[in-house]
Amino acid sequence: MDVTDEKIGNIRIVKINNGTVIDHIRAGHALEVLQILGITGKEGSIVTLAMNISSSRIGRKDIVKLEDRFLENPEVARIALVAPEATINIIRDAKVVEKTRVQLPNTLTDIIDCPNPRCITNKEREPIHPKYQVVSRRPIKLKCLYCWTMVDEAEIVQQFTERQ
Ligand SMILES: [Zn+2]
Repeated sequence: MDVTDEKIGNIRIVKINNGTVIDHIRAGHALEVLQILGITGKEGSIVTLAMNISSSRIGRKDIVKLEDRFLENPEVARIALVAPEATINIIRDAKVVEKTRVQLPNTLTDIIDCPNPRCITNKEREPIHPKYQVVSRRPIKLKCLYCWTMVDEAEIVQQFTERQ
């Protein structure tokens, strides 16, 4: 499949030569992915967004294409929290050179903050990084390994979108 010049239904999606295609995002969650990546559209590079496209694998999906942007591991972990089915395609010279599915690790360090103000990870003088264990994947539930506060998807999305 030539993902650089994809035609889905009547939509032709702009091709990118170098960058990242994030495919199979749960329908309606593409904007959260952009927020996680801090992409506002003012960076000057091409960003293509398609939402609610038919997918044989997950029903309906969103796609994000980012010219000249590659993802760091913490960004992929955050994307896995809001789009657990997502696939990451790395494009170089208009060809897919790498295709991986996002993977949520069993523990997450420095990915989200603990919502418990009394948690030791929120004490300014303590050099302790927030660390979470993934206790459920569907729906997403995380447990702070220091105070056992549970965090659900709504809290995660709120943190990711407030960061902007
Ligand atoms: Zn905590």
